[in-house]
Amino acid sequence: MSMSISKRLTGIAWASLLTVVAVSAAAVVWRSLVVPALVVDTIASALTLALTTGRLKALREQAFVHEHESLHDPVTELPNRTLFHQQACQALSAARRREATCAVMLLDLDRFKEINDTLGHHEGDLLLHQVAARLRGALRAGDLCARLGGDEFAVLAVDVDSEEDAFLLAQRLRRELARSIDLAGISLETEASIGLSLSPEQGTDVEQLLRQADVAMYGAKRQHLGVDLYSEAADEGARARLELLSQLRAAIAEGQLVVHYQPKVAAQSGLVRGFEALVRWEHPTRGLLYPDQFVGLAENTGLMRLLTSHVLDLALRQCRAWRDAGHGSLTVAVNISTRNLLDGALPGEVARRLEAHSLPASALELEITETTLMVDPIRAKAVLSELAQLGVGIAIDDFGTGYTSLSWLCELPVTTLKIDKSFVMRMTDRSEDAAIVRSSVQLAGNLGLSVVAEGVEDSDAWHGLAELGCDYLQGYYFSRPQPAAAIETWLAQQRERDPELGPIARAAA
Ligand code: C2E
Ligand code: CA
Ligand code: CA
Repeated sequence: MSMSISKRLTGIAWASLLTVVAVSAAAVVWRSLVVPALVVDTIASALTLALTTGRLKALREQAFVHEHESLHDPVTELPNRTLFHQQACQALSAARRREATCAVMLLDLDRFKEINDTLGHHEGDLLLHQVAARLRGALRAGDLCARLGGDEFAVLAVDVDSEEDAFLLAQRLRRELARSIDLAGISLETEASIGLSLSPEQGTDVEQLLRQADVAMYGAKRQHLGVDLYSEAADEGARARLELLSQLRAAIAEGQLVVHYQPKVAAQSGLVRGFEALVRWEHPTRGLLYPDQFVGLAENTGLMRLLTSHVLDLALRQCRAWRDAGHGSLTVAVNISTRNLLDGALPGEVARRLEAHSLPASALELEITETTLMVDPIRAKAVLSELAQLGVGIAIDDFGTGYTSLSWLCELPVTTLKIDKSFVMRMTDRSEDAAIVRSSVQLAGNLGLSVVAEGVEDSDAWHGLAELGCDYLQGYYFSRPQPAAAIETWLAQQRERDPELGPIARAAA
């Protein structure tokens, strides 16, 4: 900004200097031709006037450029928040006079940061540019569209007939974005979450409507709805989440956060090999809360380190107890978030806790999603390498759902691929999902990694996965995640089972 102002000032100074030089030169020439002074002065004034008019025009143009810049987003050329606010105020009051309904939409691209980090900022900007063009193309002339910042866009659709109409438009916008976009030779399908708020039914003030659309957008994203309309209940939900957040630190200190365990079984024999530790919050008034209700909150507010330390401690303590009870060398897997992975202190902490519970590093596996790895790949790789040197297993969780490049993945000290449950759960019905599972198993085999399939809900899936060559399986078919006490009972039953009776043996029987 300061640079463009100083450039502008320099421009004005040059223009003035040139005017003086030009006028003086003209006067000298005319005087030397012995033209009357009056004529010289008249011509000089005309010249000055012409130059001044030119200068004013340039200044006006500069002012216009400056104003345009201050009201538009440089990447997409769309109006920015300030201009959207101005234009939306006008459009809303005009619509009120016509007694027409308008819809304010807040649109947020899913996983834009991941794309930006993976493909680079230049490609990220190109994507935003394309998104803007598609939104504009899908809207009517009187509708407004703006980029509010980052990957957030606002739309004001005027004269929508009904709530359904607004929903249909929002869904059309999502479909427009879902058409693949070619970036750096990669074909990307952009998913977006859209929150809606209607005027005048839900408010007439632009900022209020935007805030409501934001609440709805957050709900759409969290529940994977695609589009959602603002409701007071959703607002209460947002307030309730804030309240939960304020209680989380004390809840960890008071031991309200507990861990449930879900078995991982050997695919061939069906015998248990280890457990995944999944956190739960035994809330004093709200009952048992699942991770999707509070893990995100912890991640966004710096409580993640505390949460993971707590889970790690409980899980390792439990693993020690199983081993002491003679259940063999069962392993335990703990989920690691983005913040944890960027925390240089994590490897030291893991080493200390393993030692405190007298466990070898091989007793522990850390599960990390592709998304987590991509936030800061260089730092993630450094922390992972330290963890791998300890001898801790590293699993890529939800494999198949991210944009990680395989060549980069190969550089990481990973020991396991964990195929995402969405593919596993659909593999018996959809050949595309079956193909993803099959190629993930092959890939893991080629890279010398073990492979776990999660989300195994029936015996057909078990048999299919065992035949494909999966090493381990996890899912409701074997057991839901359960508290440690219930797992004790489950383990006792497992020990009574015939170790020979695996899926292949069963299929033949
Ligand atoms: P995840 O790591 O992918 O965990 C697997 C989730 O799938 C668990 O949900 C589990 O209950 C569920 N699941 C297991 N088998 C089946 C099945 O056969 N069918 C279906 N439909 N679902 C199955 P949960 O416990 O609600 O955990 C959700 C997510 O929360 C986890 O996904 C993980 O990303 C996160 N999470 C859980 N515990 C922790 C933790 O201690 N720390 C961190 N950072 N994240 C955690
Ligand atoms: Ca996991
Ligand atoms: Ca998973």
